[in-house]
Amino acid sequence: MNPLQLIDHKRDGGEHSAAEIDFLLSAYLSGQIADYQMAAWLMAVCIRGMTRAETLALTQAMVRSGEVLDLRGIAGVKVDKHSTGGVGDKVTLIAAPLAAACGVKVPKLSGRALAHTGGTLDKLESVPGLTVDLAPDRFIKQVREVGIAIAAQSPHMVPADKALYALRDVTATVPSVPLIASSVMSKKIAAGADAIVLDVKFGRGAFMPDPAAAELLASEMVLLGEGAGRRTVALVTAMDNPLGRSVGNALEVSEALAALAGEADEELLQVSLHVAREMCALAGVSGDPEHALRSGAGRETFERMLAAQGGHLERGLPVASVQRPVPAPTTGFVESIDALAVGLASMDLGAGRVRKEDKVDHAAGLVIQALVGVHVRAGEPLAVVHARSEQLVLEVMPRLQQAWRLSEREVARPPHVLARVDKDGTTKAL
Ligand code: URA
Repeated sequence: MNPLQLIDHKRDGGEHSAAEIDFLLSAYLSGQIADYQMAAWLMAVCIRGMTRAETLALTQAMVRSGEVLDLRGIAGVKVDKHSTGGVGDKVTLIAAPLAAACGVKVPKLSGRALAHTGGTLDKLESVPGLTVDLAPDRFIKQVREVGIAIAAQSPHMVPADKALYALRDVTATVPSVPLIASSVMSKKIAAGADAIVLDVKFGRGAFMPDPAAAELLASEMVLLGEGAGRRTVALVTAMDNPLGRSVGNALEVSEALAALAGEADEELLQVSLHVAREMCALAGVSGDPEHALRSGAGRETFERMLAAQGGHLERGLPVASVQRPVPAPTTGFVESIDALAVGLASMDLGAGRVRKEDKVDHAAGLVIQALVGVHVRAGEPLAVVHARSEQLVLEVMPRLQQAWRLSEREVARPPHVLARVDKDGTTKAL
């Protein structure tokens, strides 16, 4: 096969066979197809799209590019959870322990911060001593004993996604439904769980701009999961405003611990309980996540998981040396908080990486004081910035002030969980 003809074909809106997609991927991984050719093909996919059959072939070829985790050593239905990425999204840290406390086995492989969105691995690593690098035996043993483990994916799993993702990141080819769906689902399928709950985010702080795009992505991913024999359910949730009160690694772990102790922002709690209930339903366990929250069983499970991975909460989470309020420029009701601006500011404070080799500052980020709907007076704090220097605070301050849109009229907080997608279709407005 000739790579040039394949790029031509996709550029002109043609459909590839599974054999052509296999060839493209394996030739790229072996160096026969150059980065610039693959980038041209990815751009053609971004513009022309892919049929369901092509997306399925791409996903399957990506899974075959590496190892697949064998979880048969864990009894019961294993349920994984995945978010397409957001700002302040610590749902995994709350929902997964709640589900595990109800009896669900949760073997979860997570990612690191991507662009302006946070990553569960970076968050967990803010706990002193904790490791996310668990060898398969240790990972499986922990899920058997504690009910839950959250670890990094081995570099031998889905190497095709690693290579393609790095290229997409620098060629403006990330926001494409078939490319995102195949990237996420190839990793979930290779991770070996029997069932998957997806949290597909839309809005300013997400990769999908609106609910319709998120629903389309959700249904593609559900079909891919079900096609691979995994029960798959997706929730479509809002990411216009940051989720909860904190953005930043240690700050989000701290918020998750507080949430599991019963002190959670309403929206964060809603999304987390929804996800946990879906995980329980897929596993067929009758436990109630709300009860696991109220009884403290969820928090206990989370703490056991942190300890099993070498974490020492008693040593305390890292705290930023500089903490400064962001004063409201005017008086009004908070209409919205631009999640993208907050995510980018948090990244610049050191909570994420601007370049691949950057080290994350686990203490950096911000804690929101004025949530959507709240009335603030000029000068009152919108948020508190946590940073390692005054200079960094000065750099992000004007952008953060602009991220809060204030209105003279009272504002209702918008609904958060908009739809549920499973193999039978979409249910709106949950
Ligand atoms: N997360 C992924 O793992 N892949 C994408 O393409 C986008 C978000």
